[in-house]
Amino acid sequence: MSNFQIKKVLLDAGTSLHIQTEKILSRLPGVPVQYIEGIRSKRNNDEFGSSAPETACTQDNTFEHKPRLGKDTLHLISYKGEFLKPCPGTREYICCGYQILNVATNCPLDCSYCILQAYFNQPNLRVFVNLEEELKRVLHVIDSEPDRIFRVGTGEFTDSLAVDPITCWSDLLLPAFSKRKNVVLELKTKTTNIERLLDSKYRDRIIVSWSLNSPYIAAREEHGAASLKNRLKAARQCQSEGYILGFHFDPLISHPRWKEGYLKTLDLMDKYIDPEKIIWISIGSFRYMPGLKPIIRRRHPKTCVLNGEFIMGLDGKMRYFKPIRLDLYRFLRENLEKWHPDLGLYLCMESDDVWQKSMGWSPGNTTGLSHYLDKRVLKIFG
Ligand code: SF4
Repeated sequence: MSNFQIKKVLLDAGTSLHIQTEKILSRLPGVPVQYIEGIRSKRNNDEFGSSAPETACTQDNTFEHKPRLGKDTLHLISYKGEFLKPCPGTREYICCGYQILNVATNCPLDCSYCILQAYFNQPNLRVFVNLEEELKRVLHVIDSEPDRIFRVGTGEFTDSLAVDPITCWSDLLLPAFSKRKNVVLELKTKTTNIERLLDSKYRDRIIVSWSLNSPYIAAREEHGAASLKNRLKAARQCQSEGYILGFHFDPLISHPRWKEGYLKTLDLMDKYIDPEKIIWISIGSFRYMPGLKPIIRRRHPKTCVLNGEFIMGLDGKMRYFKPIRLDLYRFLRENLEKWHPDLGLYLCMESDDVWQKSMGWSPGNTTGLSHYLDKRVLKIFG
């Protein structure tokens, strides 16, 4: 089960019409519900915008200003934007050509390095209760291009499984995606919330992925996440029940004795996981928009993630000085390849030059990387 508690639910006007709202509320007995009478600006329905209600109305119809907000507040909204969108990569770096299925924004976990701290100016957890209705539109887009492979994930603006015990999105998504041959759905998490996956009879075209780091970073910076050992135990259970796995070493963080730390994680992977059934492992290093730095300093004063030598990249984000990035990538790549030579390794948001120097080859551009990952899908799922 989830290791966090929802203390309050905010309901946007109109959300009570959705069946998902009723289902979610039934899983949260006793949790106070507050109805929002909002003047929603255009930006309010943009995932990078604010969801701040102007005024709130309690169940007894009295108005209150500025409802209490936080990661323990679940805000149910009917999202008016696109549910399926390309991952916001940049032209300057090689991107993987992933599609994001927007099911929620923000996350009950609290990683010190989380980029979402800068994206969302309200910290509450927003869940889109009109997913069931909108999913038809998403599937229509996928079905209308049968020759294209859609690599879809829900874990870009939230953790894919952190709120699954409450939303039960997996009950809805697994059968919908599993039926289709031109798509894979990746559920990316740092939790052990796999109960619903194990109960499901759908496995085909579903990838369950875990974000990994060194034990030091996992314990010190990934607040609310499962321990590395428990993540890998959950991964093993999914693998033994027929799920294909993915892993993400992103963000790699340069910290004291990082080589030793990342090797410990690789040892744990070796102990729990069969490398044959891994579709891909991404590798990326810590990068952040300059505006995130004061937020991290304020919210996580003891963090080590800002230590190190950073430069501004071509996309305006701060990233480690190139020799540090090369060192991190090379080290991880070499040691992962010693474990197994065919793991579908790829770099996230890096240049052709960095690919060549650290991976020994390069897909050249975003199209090249997309083809490489599509081939992994064909190889693993057929
Ligand atoms: S699990 Fe992902 S989305 Fe959640 S706080 Fe950590 S980095 Fe952010």
